[in-house]
Amino acid sequence: MRLAAEITALGASFFARSLTFGRTGNLSALDDDGTVLMTPTGVSLGQLDAAGLSRVGRDGEHLDGPPPTKEAFLHLAMYRARPEARAVVHTHSTHSVAVSCLRDVDHDNAIPALTAYYAMRVGALPLLPYHAPGDDRLGPLAEKRATGHHALLLANHGPVVAGTDLASAADALEELEETAKLHLLLHGRDTSLVDADEVARLRRHS
Ligand code: ZN
Repeated sequence: MRLAAEITALGASFFARSLTFGRTGNLSALDDDGTVLMTPTGVSLGQLDAAGLSRVGRDGEHLDGPPPTKEAFLHLAMYRARPEARAVVHTHSTHSVAVSCLRDVDHDNAIPALTAYYAMRVGALPLLPYHAPGDDRLGPLAEKRATGHHALLLANHGPVVAGTDLASAADALEELEETAKLHLLLHGRDTSLVDADEVARLRRHS
């Protein structure tokens, strides 16, 4: 129940801080038996029940609880691509979604290194092409990109972030959302970035 309680607490925390809203966003964590505990479809992250989460296998088979989020395939793609991943978080956080809608975005790195914490916790952020909600053709694309990146941005949709536990995945998603806000605040301004050598050094030591 420890993981279920952590997922429920994180959902409430995200919802209370408007990192997610309505019935959007989904969270998952890898259990010791290799199955994945995940938020169900059609629920608010602000009203999760620790006893009412979904359990799925690594290949997506539904094992227990209510039907999982329709974006389960995204979580499973991240676990397949990143053997160290123990948690995945996905939201439609407003500023991150705003950046994902910009036309003039570097598809290999949607947000530049504005701060050291962004460089350490997120790093480069690939932008994946738009797919309709639940379109599982996005899965293989996400899996391919996630082999080199723990954070991805889905065009006109939002971020997906993997971590070694729920807290580290949440930290990176929050850093991403705050840096997306900074990026939009600075839009059109002549901006100093953390230089590339410093970014490389920070990533080696993070
Ligand atoms: Zn979504």
